[in-house]
Order: sequence, then structure tokens, then C-alpha cells
Amino acid sequence: MATFDYVIVGAGSAGCVLANRLSADPATRVLLIEDGGDNQHPFIRMAGGFVKIMGNPEYFRVFPLKPREGMRPGIHTYGRGLGGSSAINGTWYLTGMPQDFDSWADLGLPGWGWDEIARCYQKFEDYREPGAHPGRGKGGELQVTNSTYQSPVLDALVAGFGTQGMPWLDDITTPNAHGVGRSQYTVDRKGERESAYKAFVKPIRGRPNLTIAMHTAVKRVLFADGRATGVLCEANGEELTYSAAREVILSAGVYGTPQLLQLSGIGPGAALQELGIPVLHEAGAVGQNLADHQKFGVSFDLTNHPGTNREFFGWRLYRNALQYFLTGTGHLARVGMPLTGLIASEGVDPAWPDFQVAAAPFAMRTVNEMAARPGSPLTPNPGLTFSGYHLRPRSRGSVTLTSPDFRTPPTIDAAIWADPYDQAKAIELFKLFRRIARSDPLEMFIGKERMPGDAVQDDQAIAAELAKMVEGGLHGVGTCAMGSDPATSVTDARCRVHGVGALRVVDCSIMPTPISGNTNGPAMAVAERAAELILEDRL
Ligand SMILES: Cc1cc2nc3c(=O)[nH]c(=O)nc-3n(C[C@H](O)[C@H](O)[C@H](O)COP(=O)(O)OP(=O)(O)OC[C@H]3O[C@@H](n4cnc5c(N)ncnc54)[C@H](O)[C@@H]3O)c2cc1C
Repeated sequence: MATFDYVIVGAGSAGCVLANRLSADPATRVLLIEDGGDNQHPFIRMAGGFVKIMGNPEYFRVFPLKPREGMRPGIHTYGRGLGGSSAINGTWYLTGMPQDFDSWADLGLPGWGWDEIARCYQKFEDYREPGAHPGRGKGGELQVTNSTYQSPVLDALVAGFGTQGMPWLDDITTPNAHGVGRSQYTVDRKGERESAYKAFVKPIRGRPNLTIAMHTAVKRVLFADGRATGVLCEANGEELTYSAAREVILSAGVYGTPQLLQLSGIGPGAALQELGIPVLHEAGAVGQNLADHQKFGVSFDLTNHPGTNREFFGWRLYRNALQYFLTGTGHLARVGMPLTGLIASEGVDPAWPDFQVAAAPFAMRTVNEMAARPGSPLTPNPGLTFSGYHLRPRSRGSVTLTSPDFRTPPTIDAAIWADPYDQAKAIELFKLFRRIARSDPLEMFIGKERMPGDAVQDDQAIAAELAKMVEGGLHGVGTCAMGSDPATSVTDARCRVHGVGALRVVDCSIMPTPISGNTNGPAMAVAERAAELILEDRL
């Protein structure tokens, strides 16, 4: 049995940052365990390639959703392999807002306010675009670049957003600001995806004190006298154990971590007993409090401009692939929509916007079209899309273990619109999209609304149509939330699991409330902060 000081489970956004920081001292032995492989597929390196491998179980973990009446059925997929979800995500980069983190400090979590988190971002960011706000980091491990796409449709979109009071932002991550700006991506200056593995682990992989165990799944945490002492794993069909002299750190993601805690006997006691799992520590909050952004898109016919749909078909696709491989530029180097907006909904402080939107002269096939004729969601027909979500949903779902076998995924209750406030905000956002689309600056570019269509006008009908479109943003947080009360939280403010020793959780699952933006950057910032706490506690 090999022994390390720290055993980190999961080489995702958070796990890779931790592996880097904890192994910086050559005397500290660190093991990073990952269920998946090295994720070296060219469609992972090329951000625009991820649609081609979407859902492939080699790179994705698949979780079934509990069906919800009237809502679109489905699954959630998170990343597997080095880099975790940062290796297969949309590469859209945001940091969250100062108030997100300050509100954690207000919840009784000292050390998690914006001052600390902003310092963490500054430490690892490498952002060199013009107009950067003064707090941006330069020279850190993680390259972040801007969208480079130019088009008269984009100019019209910016003007359209302006009609609704949204100013232009040179840097869309500017703290306390609302407005619209160029999207930012975790893509390097050569056009390659900056997964957490590529940014934080690949450059230091030669450290003799860092070991990486790939294709190794952790089945449960091992304990002696209430302290974590190691992990039981499966690799190549064989069981093996790794021992942790100091701590085990779970970074297995918003669904993987609560699953692993429950498999290890930390969770709702009665439910664990029903599955035949011995209860080590009763912890009803494990797997509860799941929050996610619920996204939808509205597409229109694009007129008087070809848009970008045709770039993904025929000879243009080959030309774009060639351009990408020769220069790292072009339509395949950036996957997301080129414009990002952060907008305050009615009655909300503009310094803490609660809608995130994106827009592009590009459209996928609609949900109705896909239902009528399943197949690829891509279409060559020019379109213009607005998509987005409310950033601070009130609904809370759960992650429930259904089997003591670690290979059986837990059931996810995404609880979409369980709180009527979230449905009301979705309707408000949909109406905002329509107002922008029908604003004067966009008149020459906008044709028919593809779905639900102009005939759908009253709130009830809009809600029924949105229910067919809405889906998880895959920005899940909160399932092992930090907090001071062990009855309602899973870890303390230093990420230590309540009730047991030598076990921490560091990933999106510890975020007690939703982030006002995408979650990859915040997962890394949380890990950067947690690494500081872990190293402080070592002294
Ligand atoms: C399809 C998709 C698109 C997204 N798009 C964006 C985007 O554009 N921008 C953005 O900011 N965010 C995006 N997100 C969200 C963001 O990427 C995630 O929130 C973030 O990466 C999560 O980081 P994490 O460290 O919590 O977990 P993850 O990065 O998911 O890492 C968890 C790791 O643990 C491993 N693991 C789990 N269980 C075990 C086990 N038992 N044994 C061993 N290993 C295990 C997994 O294989 C995985 O590698 C997207 C997410 C998805 C899924």
C-alpha cells in the first residue's frame, strides 16, 4: 500500500489546482487520483471540437435526472479524465461577482469574502487583453483570452442591448458592473483549450513528489478512529488502497463528491442503512441544497447576413479546420457565443446582476425540430440566438444514492422551477430577449422567431414553451455546502467535513449558494483558497 501526505480524489478544475499548490513543497507527497484517462483527444484540445465528443463516456460521466412533470426529461453529463469538466466544457470564463463571495462570509464563513477570492484569481490568471480591469491577473498559470469574432450583426446586437440600458464593458468580468462585452474563454493564445490539467498540472508533472493515478476509481474513503486514513480504489478490475498520512481531499465534483461521501458512510443514516452501507457519521445535508442555473435559448431567422452556421459544413468546415491546425485561430478555436451580457432583472441592484446572457449570429435546431427529427443539433441555416439563465435560482435539488455499487450513478433531482420565483425570472428573461431582438438596431437582421414563435404571448403559454427548452446549465453547486451548522452543512469554513477527521471537500459542491456566472473559474478560485487553508493548517 503506497502512502502519500495528501490524497486528492478527482483531477477536475479544483483537483488540478490543489495538486499543483500542495506539491509545491518537494517534501510533501501528493497523489492525484482520476477515474478517467489523459484526455488528449484533439477535439478536447480544440475548444470547438467538444460538440463532436459530447456525451462520450470516455470523457463524460452521465447522471440520470429524476423526471419532473411538464419539464424536458434528461441527463446531466460532467467531465471525466484529467481536467475533469474543464476538459469538456464550453470554455466560457467568468469569475462570479464580489457579492456572491461576500454573502458567504455573511453566512458565517470567514475567509471567503471577495478580497480573498479576488487575490486567488489574480494569482492564477494570465489575462493580457486590452481594457482589463485593474484587478486582473497577468502571468499566472491560466490563460484567458477574448472572443475575436467581428461582424456587423455583433455591432447591431451590442446596440440592441444598449436599447435596454446595458452599457458596453471592455472587460466583462469587471467587479460590480452590469453590461455587455466580448466573451472570455479558457483558451490559450495559440487557440488550445486551457483545461485545469493543462494549466496547473501538465507543466509540473515532472515533480517527483507528485503521483497521478489515472483510470482509477475511488470506491470509498477508509477510516480509523473517525479519521480518514486513505481510499479504496478500483483500477483495471483490481482493488487497491492508497494511504494518506495527512488528509484525504475529495474533489470529485458536485455529484461525485456527495456520492463518495455517502458510499463511505457519511450521509443520511436511514437511507444509507437501507442500502446496506454502515453509517460512520449521520450527515443529512450530504447531497442536499443542489443549485444550478437553468438555461434556455431563443433563436430567430437571420436575414441580410450569412451568420456562422455555414462555417460548420462542407468545404468551409475543412477550411476552418485547416486554419485552426495551422494558426490556432478561426471558428473552431472558440466554441462559445462571442457576446456576454450580465444584466440585473427587475428590482435587482445593477452592481450584482442576476441574468447571464449570450448572443451570436448562430443557431442550433430547435427542441421541437429535434423532437420531430432526431439527429445532429447543427443546421446550416443562418440564425441568430439569445441564450441565458437566471443566476441566483431559489430552487434546491438533491443527489441521492441508489446503490452501494460505486458504478451506479446517483439520481439527480434538479428541481427545476420547484420555486415559482425561478419560473417567473425565466419568463422575464425571455421577454427581455424578445425586446432586444425587436429593437431598432437589429431590425435588418432579424426574421421569424423560430420557437416558440410570435403567436405565444401570455405568461402561461410562454412558461409551457420554456419548460420544453429549459435544461441544466451544468453549473451545479451546494451538495456538500460549507457552513457553521453541521445539521445544514457538510464542511466547515476550512473545507473540513464535519464530524470526522482528516477529510476535506474542495470542489463546486462546497459552494453554499449559486455563483453569478459560470463555475469553472470559481471552482479553481475556491481550490486556490482551500490550498492556502490546507497549507496553513499543516503548520
Ligand atoms: C458540458 C459542460 C459545459 C460547461 N461549460 C462551462 C463553461 O463554458 N464555463 C464554465 O465556467 N463552466 C462550465 N461548466 C461548468 C464547470 O466546468 C464545472 O462547474 C467545473 O469544471 C467543476 O469543477 P469541479 O472541480 O467541481 O469538478 P469536475 O471538474 O467535474 O471534476 C471532478 C473529477 O472527479 C473525477 N471523479 C469523480 N468521481 C470519482 C471517483 N469516485 N474516483 C476518481 N475520480 C472521480 C471525475 O472524473 C472528474 O474528473 C460546464 C460543465 C459541463 C459539464
